[in-house]
Amino acid sequence: MSVKAKIGFEEVLSRFVRVLKSNGLKYTNQREVILRAIVESEGHFIPEELKAVIMRNYEGLNIGTATVYRTLALLEEAGIVTSVSFGASGKKYEFGLKEHHDHMICDSCGAMIEFVDKEIEKRQKEIAAAKGFKIVSHAMQIRGLCKACQKAKS
Ligand SMILES: [Zn+2]
Ligand SMILES: [Zn+2]
Repeated sequence: MSVKAKIGFEEVLSRFVRVLKSNGLKYTNQREVILRAIVESEGHFIPEELKAVIMRNYEGLNIGTATVYRTLALLEEAGIVTSVSFGASGKKYEFGLKEHHDHMICDSCGAMIEFVDKEIEKRQKEIAAAKGFKIVSHAMQIRGLCKACQKAKS
């Protein structure tokens, strides 16, 4: 399942530039390349995977792992990127301005399966309304083992 982005790249970029400014940071070509790779990414990635994609697509561009990590942290703070942890110490990121969806997360390999269920979405709203709770956002995670990891463990 591939989830669509809610806003275009130019809009994301101007938001990013504002975030950089408010943090006293400069807008650089490297940071734009990182942002573009994130917006164009299909699913969920660890920082090293993102870096590998950038190295493949932009030959000769030198981006350090530290820059990738720092930029991701910045983008997460700005809500442009979201992260989900898996296993003991892993963390996967994804572009945060996609249509809403929930995740099933494999605690063994970090696989993330996206899904949207109208019934679940509707019930969450009803439950919140019944408690007089105003929802701002929600992130539903079902944790466990993916098919491949179940097979490997049996
Ligand atoms: Zn797995
Ligand atoms: Zn997702």
